[in-house]
Amino acid sequence: EALTAIRRHVSPQLALVYGMNGSGAVEARGEGARIHLSDGRAALDFGSYAVTLLGQRHPAVVAAVRDELDAMPVSSRVLGNRATAALAGALADWADPGRLTKVWLGLNGADAVEAALKLARRATGRRRVIAVEGAYHGKSLGALAATWNARYRESLEPLLGGVTHIPADVCAVPGAFGGEEVAAVLFEPVQGEGGVLPLDPAFLKALADAARAHGAFVIADEVQTGLRRCGPRLSSTGLGLEPDAVLLGKALGGGVQPVSAVVATPELYAPLAADPFVHTTTFSGHPLGAAAGVAALRVVEELAPRGARLAEVFGSGLARLAERHAGLVTAVRGQGLLWGVEFATRAAAGEVLMELGRRGLVVSPCLGRPEVLRLLPPLVATDEDAEEALALLDAVCSAVPD
Ligand code: PMP
Repeated sequence: EALTAIRRHVSPQLALVYGMNGSGAVEARGEGARIHLSDGRAALDFGSYAVTLLGQRHPAVVAAVRDELDAMPVSSRVLGNRATAALAGALADWADPGRLTKVWLGLNGADAVEAALKLARRATGRRRVIAVEGAYHGKSLGALAATWNARYRESLEPLLGGVTHIPADVCAVPGAFGGEEVAAVLFEPVQGEGGVLPLDPAFLKALADAARAHGAFVIADEVQTGLRRCGPRLSSTGLGLEPDAVLLGKALGGGVQPVSAVVATPELYAPLAADPFVHTTTFSGHPLGAAAGVAALRVVEELAPRGARLAEVFGSGLARLAERHAGLVTAVRGQGLLWGVEFATRAAAGEVLMELGRRGLVVSPCLGRPEVLRLLPPLVATDEDAEEALALLDAVCSAVPD
């Protein structure tokens, strides 16, 4: 009946997606790497749009949120609160210590994108933003202007003006800075929704260097890639880039609370330092999300060695899978715990997605490139969980005609 309510009051299409486990059961309880369904079955969660990096309800995050819930002041906007202070401090100590010292907190990824774009425009007095073809930065009207996929933009133009998309190609960089002066460049080190496409490090370096030379800010959207999803704390700093801001979201709240962040240099943050009220939202810095974030950052570091091992097991397993199903699987790309499996057709990818759901493996489609399925093992998955997921994928690939 839960699905009936979703069909009636939310969307028939979503009811279909949620019913993808084959029995019409709904998700009832999360536990570690698994989601338990209302019919008693359980599914491995290698999806959840990169939110459940720490798995479901990580005990350290749940305990931190519980503690905060017991104490949490509701007049936090006026008096400040210790949880928000702790998360701001923890992020500044963690991201790129001594360089990215300023923090703005939001609730979702698009919030962080909006805040960063406003800061870049205010700090430079310039309007133009360079983004990358294939990019996904969210669906609020400002973030959407930097998102590439036409499907989301249809009937909505004009969006935020001044955003240009360039191909992820070194040759495209010099031409991008002609004309009106550029406030910022914005990129995902690995395009997640765009098909798990790691951008060429030479392109990213050229883009960042050109931005510096032009006095434009460099903003790395690490909503999906950050927090060791790809191995290093941040993909951008892992590549040797020195962004003026990194954007975090999704897993920052440990999959328990919604919280996002812009972690920035004082130069980019200057407009907010001068007047913190030029960009606010009611729940910015909410104590529950902040408490979750502090705990999540700690757990991410504790589990880093585990993540490296899991990345090896899973990555090599996927490479074998690609060989075994060469006609059906046309590419496997990724790093760390962010992997994309590309299928010969969208229909095949869709069938594999549905069948995996029925057999108990949750994966995410790529919103901008549905022929690619995204596999996102959580840091708490065991080697056996990874092998189980690979075996399910192998079995389903064998069952789907190519
Ligand atoms: N940036 C990136 C790189 C993302 O992957 C996403 C979400 N898929 C967003 C921004 C937007 O985040 P949200 O959906 O939380 O607004």
